[in-house]
Amino acid sequence: MRHLTTAVLFALVTALAAVGQVRAADPIKRGLKETDFPRTVKVTDTVYTYEDFHAGPEKFTTTDMFVVTRDGVLVADGQGNPEATKGLVDAIRKVTDKPIEYVVVCSDHGDHTAGNASFPPGITYIVHPTSKAILDRQAERAADTWRLPASAELVSDRKTLTLGGEEFQVLFLGRAHTGGDLSVYLPRQRILFMSEIFLNRVFPAMRSAYPSDWLATLTKAEQLPVDIYMPGHGFTETGPVSKEELREYHKAMQAVIAEATRLHSAGVPVDEAIRQANFGEYSSWTLSSSQAPIAIRKVYEELDGKLR
Ligand SMILES: [Zn+2]
Repeated sequence: MRHLTTAVLFALVTALAAVGQVRAADPIKRGLKETDFPRTVKVTDTVYTYEDFHAGPEKFTTTDMFVVTRDGVLVADGQGNPEATKGLVDAIRKVTDKPIEYVVVCSDHGDHTAGNASFPPGITYIVHPTSKAILDRQAERAADTWRLPASAELVSDRKTLTLGGEEFQVLFLGRAHTGGDLSVYLPRQRILFMSEIFLNRVFPAMRSAYPSDWLATLTKAEQLPVDIYMPGHGFTETGPVSKEELREYHKAMQAVIAEATRLHSAGVPVDEAIRQANFGEYSSWTLSSSQAPIAIRKVYEELDGKLR
């Protein structure tokens, strides 16, 4: 009887934990308050995420990773404006007095780079050549834009570096959300920061994307020995939920591409396809109303051979 009670209690606790884990990008749906952000979350002894709200009416987080080692800090991605990225730098200061040595530009989009002027000088930036070209072009067009230092190190495939005894692999797993998408892999801790390759419970955002390449990139990420997949937007899950959510995102990408492809094959013109498309459960994901039309146009573009 005692064993049964323990077993029943265990099952109950497990079930409650699963129920408590609301899977959504919306902080309110997860039982958080807007005033809980920005926030720092300790994921392991040395790995943290920093989450601040993305600009715009729908509330969801832009997630950065920072890793503290005895010789300094590696940061993956910044926030969208100098004040927000100063918040990230201050949050790192609260955890360690070690200097920030590296900033990896995993996504070149403004919501992850436009605050980079707030990082202290003397940092080594790591960036994919495609993203470097995009950032350089932006800086030429607008003089007040943050400029990637000439010392930035380029990674077009992979770069392994060691800082304070921790091994980091900066990986290009293929084109996805920007074309210059980099991930940061920590083999010892089995963590992969994926930036905008993984938008956890956010509708696939394809303005500058490569839809079918993105699917292949997700498959590559899934094949790595990883326990914690960190998204660039949305929440970081741990335990088996992390893998499940990456899988869920992959399924969403497949479903969105399949629906656009179905309409394209039926000869439906793109504007009509936007009206007719049915994304089922993914219609409830954050940004679905703004991103669904963009996704259809992008898939049409690829199917029409206009995407290079
Ligand atoms: Zn973004």
